[in-house]
Amino acid sequence: MNELEPSVILDVAIVGAGIAGLAAAISMRRAGHNVTVYERSSFKNEVGAAINMPPQATRIMRAWDLPLPGPKSGEISNSNGAGGERGDEQTGTILKLTRRVDYKTAETMSYECLDDIAERYGAQFVSYHRAELGNRIALRSPVSHIDCQTGELEVTHFGGRVEVYKHDLLIIADGINTSFIPHFVGREVPLYRSGLTCYRTLIPTSKILSHSIASRLFVQRDGSLFGHNGISGTTNPHTGVYMIAYPCRKGALMDVAVFDRPREDRIEKNG
Ligand SMILES: Cc1cc2nc3c(=O)[nH]c(=O)nc-3n(C[C@H](O)[C@H](O)[C@H](O)COP(=O)(O)OP(=O)(O)OC[C@H]3O[C@@H](n4cnc5c(N)ncnc54)[C@H](O)[C@@H]3O)c2cc1C
Repeated sequence: MNELEPSVILDVAIVGAGIAGLAAAISMRRAGHNVTVYERSSFKNEVGAAINMPPQATRIMRAWDLPLPGPKSGEISNSNGAGGERGDEQTGTILKLTRRVDYKTAETMSYECLDDIAERYGAQFVSYHRAELGNRIALRSPVSHIDCQTGELEVTHFGGRVEVYKHDLLIIADGINTSFIPHFVGREVPLYRSGLTCYRTLIPTSKILSHSIASRLFVQRDGSLFGHNGISGTTNPHTGVYMIAYPCRKGALMDVAVFDRPREDRIEKNG
């Protein structure tokens, strides 16, 4: 259903099916235009880690009728791991708390319950596996060249086949390592280092819970689980290294990110 009826219906091409590209696609479609999204990846499980979507983002998803988890999603039902609600795998996992844990003992130092977050902010705090956000688009279409003057766009398929498409409007949303923004602004757009290095991985929750040391993050002394359905963070005050962990895929996977500042002896000459 179109929310607006534009006097001119544009044929729009969007390069990249990340959050920016998909959000642009949905809003252009709802404004009544024809949209094609070109995405180079096949979006299987190999793509990245889990994305946090706080209420200001999930409110927009709800307005766009995108799938959101039911009230019980994200629960892990037993102590040996991944169980929990199966449900629709595309709907994300509700995050139920944020927590600081001791960097040595993994014991909870403080936490904030997010149970009333929907009441307070009008929507849930949800974690999505990146592949869950990208399952409704044309895949494996790597754009190799664009021409802003003619609106032409070239797709070089895996195997070498080249196809050229022409559109009224090109929207470039190919991410931080964009190769096309220079076409628009007429100069290179260099990346600058933040000084932080992030090591990020998805680990089956069952593996964490069955590991003698790692399980301490979620298994309390009395054997009960705590914190597995929210965001847990801890910082080593001596090194500044910090870690964040939160679930996705209904609790079956845990996104674990460790952030470090390179030490003096490891900083490259060019910064
Ligand atoms: C591991 C990780 C975890 C993160 N976690 C969070 C988080 O929890 N919360 C949060 O808010 N942010 C998070 N971020 C940041 C967030 O992912 C980015 O800010 C956001 O995804 C940027 O969206 P985007 O659409 O601009 O780019 P991207 O998500 O990078 O999307 C660009 C898309 O374009 C495609 N593409 C690129 N070149 C071409 C081409 N030539 N032809 C066709 N397609 C192409 C790529 O395959 C990709 O799908 C995280 C980032 C990373 C790397």
